[in-house]
Amino acid sequence: MEGEMRRREQLAALGEAAAVIAHEIRNPLGIIKTSSQLVAQRSYLAQPDERLLGFVLDEVNRIDRLVTEVLDYVRPNRPTMRAVALDEIVNKAVDFMAPELDKRGIARDIAVTNGLVVEADADQIHQVIINLVLNAMEAMADGGRLTVKAEADEEAAEAVLTIADSGTGMEPDVVHRMFDPFFTTKTKGTGLGLAKVLSVVEHHGGAITCTSALESGTSIVIRLPLNQKKSAND
Ligand code: ADP
Ligand code: MG
Repeated sequence: MEGEMRRREQLAALGEAAAVIAHEIRNPLGIIKTSSQLVAQRSYLAQPDERLLGFVLDEVNRIDRLVTEVLDYVRPNRPTMRAVALDEIVNKAVDFMAPELDKRGIARDIAVTNGLVVEADADQIHQVIINLVLNAMEAMADGGRLTVKAEADEEAAEAVLTIADSGTGMEPDVVHRMFDPFFTTKTKGTGLGLAKVLSVVEHHGGAITCTSALESGTSIVIRLPLNQKKSAND
């Protein structure tokens, strides 16, 4: 347990350093971006130069997204808690991802119980689901099946959200590190998706677990306390 605490402290320090760097990058990056956009509008540019400027702008946008993601991750994320219907958030997020899933030949199995009221920040939970579905999608490059379930565990007074894929699965050492900020196995990954997911779930007083098997897929289960005062029946 001691080792785990040390690891957490190190990760927190890493996050703080990243925040400072991300913040310092943002201003000069903004100037690079506006200046190159202005130059790109010039009519006298030779075609090769236009192409080069295109590269500059693409990469500037890429850094911009990374910086936004880093700041979004390290920013103190105090959720605005309200009684919200988890099923509605889940359905909306899955609908949002549907075109992208269809394009990749990923079938969907959605089973969502109505009236799952949780005390939560709807935007943050939406983001959690999107991040998990994105990972599932990226693990199924050749198509597959996405399963999304949301149901009540009345005994535990918890809503149980499952997002599972039939993708590549993970080696045990990847499972061990998957929630670490900046841990990624992807060439264009940031390694911040699951770190953000974990932080949001913990701020909601919830829990997250992962089961994964190479070549058969991954299943992520999130448990959130049900809002007792406003249960599905009243
Ligand atoms: P990123 O997606 O930018 O790599 P994440 O924090 O979202 O960062 O995920 C960290 C790593 O965990 C991924 O690079 C990948 O190796 C692994 N991973 C996460 N979700 C899945 C999944 N559904 N299937 C297989 N591997 C996954
Ligand atoms: Mg991700």
